[in-house]
Formats: sequence, structure tokens, C-alpha cells
Amino acid sequence: MKPLYSVVVPVYNEEEVIRVSYDRLTKVMSTLKEPYELIFVNDGSRDKTPEILADICRKDKSCRFINFSRNFGHQPAITAGMDYSKGEAIVVIDADLQDPPEVILDMIKEWKNGYEVVYGKRLKRKGETFFKKFTAKVYYRVLKSMTSVDIPVDTGDFRLIDRKVCDTLKSMPERSRYVRGLVAWVGFKQKPVEYVREERFAGETKYPLKKMLKLAMDGIAAFSFKPLKFATGVGVMLTVVSLAAMLLSVILGIINSSFSWQMFMMLCVLLTQGFMFIFIGLTGEYIGRIFEQAKGRPVYIVRETIGFDDGGTEN
Ligand code: UDP
Ligand code: MG
Repeated sequence: MKPLYSVVVPVYNEEEVIRVSYDRLTKVMSTLKEPYELIFVNDGSRDKTPEILADICRKDKSCRFINFSRNFGHQPAITAGMDYSKGEAIVVIDADLQDPPEVILDMIKEWKNGYEVVYGKRLKRKGETFFKKFTAKVYYRVLKSMTSVDIPVDTGDFRLIDRKVCDTLKSMPERSRYVRGLVAWVGFKQKPVEYVREERFAGETKYPLKKMLKLAMDGIAAFSFKPLKFATGVGVMLTVVSLAAMLLSVILGIINSSFSWQMFMMLCVLLTQGFMFIFIGLTGEYIGRIFEQAKGRPVYIVRETIGFDDGGTEN
């Protein structure tokens, strides 16, 4: 039977959590009495996650398993789940139960009211470090100020999207996929559902600082040119200031010859050099992404799938 709902769960090294997640998702989804599928995307886990998922998906006909050939990242995993989904409404949820599966029911209610994107807005984040909460809060606001796309603040990837939205996303060939931004960009009728983000059920975050920074830069580079334009602004400012300084140095040199202009100019040069390297780096961030896009490599590679009717393979 064609599922009405597809629940996409990206999973990376979640052996301690995944069975409980599966149980809770199944419990919630079966209350609806409508056909659904749970799509688990194993993003190159190095623990027992793939074995557990394969076992679950062989026993439960509502479950599907996509196994990546290596760790491609959270956003590619979500992308794969959407690509393989067949439901009319697609829900993306983390595996670690920080996003309570029960909230899906509220999202479905809004979908039935006619909304095409229903996103989870975090009222509170439990069990996360002050650093993470603070940087996330600042980041979402900085991003918002930098782009004309209305990317909602305090919102992750926990959301429901309609089949129309999913098909639109699938048709977008963007490589660095900042999914929450892309969903905002496509428009449609959007509605937030507020929820409290719980503590991780078990295990540790799979988002170390490096991955967080990459996601943050992906979001900015994909949705704003402001960092590049900022270089022009600073360039103009420095030109004006240095012209004024030159003029002043000539005047002061005539009046008082003891002032160390060499020292002052040295510091000015160092400062400008610093700015220049920052901007070269920022330009590089964009050029690197253009290069990624130009290479046209796939966003992810699937090694095997289980549970998909259309000839899913098993190794
Ligand atoms: N995840 C993934 N690939 C990665 C990192 C994370 O598929 O490279 C999954 C992870 O298993 C979880 C979700 O993405 O289901 C969010 O990760 P996590 O809970 O570690 O992030 P946090 O909530 O700490 O930001
Ligand atoms: Mg988490």
C-alpha cells in the first residue's frame, strides 16, 4: 500500500538509541491508522547501527533502510531520505529523540489544515551546552540579517513537508544542501509548531564543532552574498581613511617632525593585510562551493537498501 506519511530519520552512530527511537516512532505513527513508512538513513555509522537497522527493516514492512557507503553528513542523509520517500507528507526527525516523535501528530494536524511546510520551532533546548545554545541563537539571527530569504530562527530540520515541496527540493541540483534554508526558500504555506527540545536519549552529539562550523558556513554561503559585499565596504572605508592619513601626515610632518609615522603606517599595513586575508578566505569559501557544484559529484552514495518495493538490493 502506498504510504501516506514518510518519516525520514538520519542516523550516525546511534546504536544506543535507535531501537528506542524506532519503538517510539512506531507507537506514534500507528495511532494514526493510516499507512506510513519509516526511512532510516545510515550515514556511514561505525558501530552496530547498520546491523540493528537492517534487522528492524527486515522484520517490519513499514521500515526502509538506506545504507550510505560512508559518512556523508546529516544534510545529505536527509536529502537521501526525501529522495526515496513515497508519502504525501514527509517528516524529518533526528534519531536521538531530542525532537519528540509525538510532535509529529501536531504537524500532521496542521498539514491536514492545508499547510505545506510545518516546522518545529524550539522553545527551549534541554541538556545542551551553554556554548551550543548561545552560538545557535546568535547564528540564526546573524543568518536572518544577512539574507532576504525568511529562514525561521531557532528551527532545525525537524519538520513536515508536503509531497509538492519535497518534489521541488528534489529538482534543485544544489550540492551543499542546507535543507532548512532550501525549504524556506521554496516558499509554500508554512507554519511553525512550537516544542521543547529534549535531552539526547543516550550517546553523545554527532555534531562536533567542526561539523557545526561547516553547516553554519554552508547556510551563509548558500543564502547570502553579504560577506563578499562586506569586503567592498571595508575596502572603501580603508581607502578613505588612508587618504586622510596621508594628507594628515604631510601636514603633521611639516608642523612636527618627531611623530613616528613609520610605526603608524606599519600598523596600518598590517591591519589591511589582516583584512585582506580574511576576505581572500571568505572568497575561497564561495569559490570552493562553486568548485563542488562544478564537479557535480552526487550528494551521497548508497551502498544498499532494504524494504523498498522497487527492487531494493541486499548485500
Ligand atoms: N547525523 C548524521 N550524520 C552526521 C551527524 C549526525 O546522520 O554526520 C544524525 C544523528 O544521528 C542525529 C541527527 O543527525 O539523528 C542530529 O545529530 P545530533 O543529534 O548529534 O546533533 P545535535 O542534536 O547535537 O545538534
Ligand atoms: Mg541531537
